[in-house]
Amino acid sequence: MSVFVDRLDRVRATMTEQGVDATLLSVGADLPWLTGYEATPLERLTMLVVPRDGDAVMFVPELEVPRVHPHPEVFSIVGWSETEDPVALVAKQIAGARRAVIGDTTWARFLVDLIGQLPGTTFGRASEVVGSLRAVKDAHEVDCLRVAAHVVDAIAHELQTGAIPLIGRTEADVSAELGRRIIDGGHHRVNFAIVASGPNSASPHHHASDKVIGPDEVVLCDFGGTMSAPGEPGYCSDITRCVYTGEPPTEFTALYDALFAAQGKARLGALVGHTGAEVDGIARDGLTEAGYGEYFIHRLGHGIGVEEHEDPYLVASNHEAIEVGNAFSIEPGIYVPHTWGARLEDIVVAAADGPDVLNQAARELFVVEA
Ligand code: ZN
Ligand code: ZN
Ligand code: ZN
Repeated sequence: MSVFVDRLDRVRATMTEQGVDATLLSVGADLPWLTGYEATPLERLTMLVVPRDGDAVMFVPELEVPRVHPHPEVFSIVGWSETEDPVALVAKQIAGARRAVIGDTTWARFLVDLIGQLPGTTFGRASEVVGSLRAVKDAHEVDCLRVAAHVVDAIAHELQTGAIPLIGRTEADVSAELGRRIIDGGHHRVNFAIVASGPNSASPHHHASDKVIGPDEVVLCDFGGTMSAPGEPGYCSDITRCVYTGEPPTEFTALYDALFAAQGKARLGALVGHTGAEVDGIARDGLTEAGYGEYFIHRLGHGIGVEEHEDPYLVASNHEAIEVGNAFSIEPGIYVPHTWGARLEDIVVAAADGPDVLNQAARELFVVEA
């Protein structure tokens, strides 16, 4: 696939700029982004070696070679047998490298052994090379993110229209159903399915408990997964919608209206050239003016792609300008401790002619009676 050739070229160009002699990728999202293959997190090493000059080689446990979808124009495959030392094979491949970068989530045991075998090599993180490249999505990647977004949009619509019953079921039961629907919709993995009802909605990362969902409660659902075609990296979905199991009280309606307005402003303000801090500030200022600022206790959003959370982050400390092709969530929330909470989340891609909002499910607070 030519996208991988293009990505490898861009990795090499960045390595040259940064004086990196070798890039080593193992467990984590950089490897599938560059090769379509996701390493199994095992005690057996899988590692792609990309020398700055020279051909890329993927070292794979022999028994896993059949899992690798070959892309010979990008890398060759070397299966190592049970009696070989894969770290020695990698060390030999990059012998003489002065500076190497290694995938941030590579198991420490392999890095420790590599350092032992390569005393003349200094190591940095592969995110220094690959992170900014991965943050800029090409048209194919945006298509993949859009397809995944539409799957969770349809599930959100089912929640909002009562096709997924809530009252009388546990949060865990509803969470499991969301997960099944994510898979039925074509994702190959569920990454999370938060269902938080009543006071649990005040905890942003509440998962799903044995609490039975009652009438007259807010139910916050935040769910997503990874969707991929064989031999291609998977791309993530992520959406949050809230429904109310009965007529909401006016205090909640006021809270939700403020959230809805702030999220809308931030979505429209997610423009190329604005910094992550500025877009975060748009939502934060809106909620502060409405009197809810103290209850918005997390950053506005995270980048999304092969990983559910990746660069760029929309947070007060990020002063980098948004670029064409950045994909990220816009997800302000209001969390009133022990009482209730709400969050509204969409995935947006920054484009030259304005924000391209991937999620299209309705954003209003729906009342469900079942
Ligand atoms: Zn999160
Ligand atoms: Zn989410
Ligand atoms: Zn998110």
